[in-house]
Amino acid sequence: MYKIDTRCVHAGYRPGKGEPRQMPIIQSTTFKYETSDQMGRLFDLEDAGYFYTRLQNPTCDNVAARIADLEGGVGALLTSSGQAANLYAVLNICRAGDHIVCANNIYGGTFNLFGVTLRGLGIDVTFVSPDASEAEIAAAFRKETKLLFGETISNPGVEVLDIELFARVAHAHGVPLIVDNTFATPVLCRPFEWGADIVTHSTTKYIDGHGVSVGGALVDSGNFPWMEHADKFPGLTTPDASYHGLTYAVKFGPAAYITKAVTHLMRDLGAMQSPQNAFYLNLGLQTLHLRMRRHCDSALQVARWLEQHPAVAWVHYSGLESDPFHAQQQKYLPAGCCGVIAFGLKGGRAFDNRFLDALQLVTIETHVADCHTCVLHPASHTHRQLSDEQLRAAGVAPDLIRLSIGLEDPEDIIADLSAALEHAAL
Ligand SMILES: *Cc1c(COP(=O)(O)O)cnc(C)c1O
Repeated sequence: MYKIDTRCVHAGYRPGKGEPRQMPIIQSTTFKYETSDQMGRLFDLEDAGYFYTRLQNPTCDNVAARIADLEGGVGALLTSSGQAANLYAVLNICRAGDHIVCANNIYGGTFNLFGVTLRGLGIDVTFVSPDASEAEIAAAFRKETKLLFGETISNPGVEVLDIELFARVAHAHGVPLIVDNTFATPVLCRPFEWGADIVTHSTTKYIDGHGVSVGGALVDSGNFPWMEHADKFPGLTTPDASYHGLTYAVKFGPAAYITKAVTHLMRDLGAMQSPQNAFYLNLGLQTLHLRMRRHCDSALQVARWLEQHPAVAWVHYSGLESDPFHAQQQKYLPAGCCGVIAFGLKGGRAFDNRFLDALQLVTIETHVADCHTCVLHPASHTHRQLSDEQLRAAGVAPDLIRLSIGLEDPEDIIADLSAALEHAAL
């Protein structure tokens, strides 16, 4: 098998003689067949083949195959957004009456999806602290619990998940561990190697990397033994009436979960990615290995600079020796821990605002993790509906500033931060 840098460029698409060197965009909603029987067999899942882009499209499939290869999974599905990927990850194995356990420091959008929308649909959630002990996490489980969920590097707190410990607790309860690997990308961490069963991505972030297309991905390791826990996962282990009674775990073996996500959830819910956006993702993937290295190097340099600045109260970046998650970073993210830094200033909310407003190169954006350096104050922006207490419950310090280091020269980024801090102090 080729090394990961080579696979970023080539995996999932090898053109044959006379075929396009770059992965083409197949901008077609539908696909043609010669006989009625050929088409019928596709609908019975007896033959593999394209029939309608809502379910599968060659461009999307090639890009999904590249992401599956990078993660070391058996298959992947592209979705219209990271939100859709996390929704599908849960709905593929949960229904009303079920329960999930989730780290409380996850991305705010996922926190709302699970805590409000899924609860409203009858899927309950218990949030646990990501640094809880094994016994504390285990105590959150119920007999109707169907999965455990966390983020490799949490957004925005940039805490590193103890994936092995989470996997151990999940497996002891007969359920899969689902890890949102958005900030790490498979270049920096492959959660399957540490026992995770399913990985999700907001590809909107580093995988795209240029801020051009919203998207997501769901990846299946193929490792979870659904049949051993057949009573918990009837959707995978009992006949599906909407496909003439086929049983996913029997017919598709290790690819049962991802096949069901495509043929059932995508068929019914339709949050697919467009071939055009998949093409942009592919361009991002082809330089992902180079970009991640630069994001990590520059962020470490900026984090070190922030740490020694007198106006800075605290810095969280697990690459710093002083960071509480440094040991976990060394274990799970030895090549670097992405470009996102969380920090707080000493001067209070008004000082924060003067600092943010004085930035010139660094821009205020809700976005994160692309080539442009940007900054966000969750308490004033993405999380402004929450009280300070609710912020802390969601793992977000009220004074937290999220700084996403792009691909500019780090000296220019530091000069801009420095000037804005000086201005804020005036
Ligand atoms: C942004 C993000 C999401 C949501 O993804 P969208 O593509 O914005 O829908 C999910 N998880 C994490 C960790 C994110 O950073």
